[in-house]
Amino acid sequence: MLNGSNVSSGTEANNNHCTFCKRTEISYILKETPNFLLAADHAPLIEGHILIIPKRHFTCYGEVPPSLDDELFSMKREVQRFFSQYYAPAVFWEHGIFKQTVFHAHLHCFPWSSSGYDLEESLHNVIVSSQDDIRQWFMLNGHYFYMEDFRRALIFAPEMDRYLGIVKNVFLRGIASRGGKVEWRSAQQRFEEGVPLIKSMIDKWSSFQELGTDYVNKTILR
Ligand SMILES: [Zn+2]
Ligand SMILES: [Zn+2]
Repeated sequence: MLNGSNVSSGTEANNNHCTFCKRTEISYILKETPNFLLAADHAPLIEGHILIIPKRHFTCYGEVPPSLDDELFSMKREVQRFFSQYYAPAVFWEHGIFKQTVFHAHLHCFPWSSSGYDLEESLHNVIVSSQDDIRQWFMLNGHYFYMEDFRRALIFAPEMDRYLGIVKNVFLRGIASRGGKVEWRSAQQRFEEGVPLIKSMIDKWSSFQELGTDYVNKTILR
């Protein structure tokens, strides 16, 4: 279904029911900029699984305005530098609203080197060259999911066969490439098993910040 008509506009500054607005499902913030948070995923698939989250409530990145693009790009570049130094190049992934569990925009960052996706698989709909392409798709079609590696960024229509094709190949390959558990686990299991992974990632992030850069910002929220 490519109908965006029932996509609610979520641009209010804050949503009382949203676990990302309330920050109850954000376990550890690595970095905070005026409009974004860089946070550990609280139920990581592998070590290094982090999220880029706009502070304001948007339902997906298709709704995030152009004025925030530069800040988003510099956050992504920092993740790329961090991953390249300690893990492997980044693969970025967004559900859009399709298959989302938290209805607040977030970009998953995974150190998987590459997606392994071949354009000849023809599961994608658009080769993305700017954030405008994502906004454009969202405005015209509504839901989507999104994947980016060092080669290219792609938008996929929110159809189950495309989604399962990507999850099966890209995710399993990516998780296996980091020695992660490829069998299905509930979010609760990932949460429980994720504690040492998050700790280890935070240690690496701290030395990354000390080695390089602007500032260390550690805020333990719970
Ligand atoms: Zn929210
Ligand atoms: Zn997600």
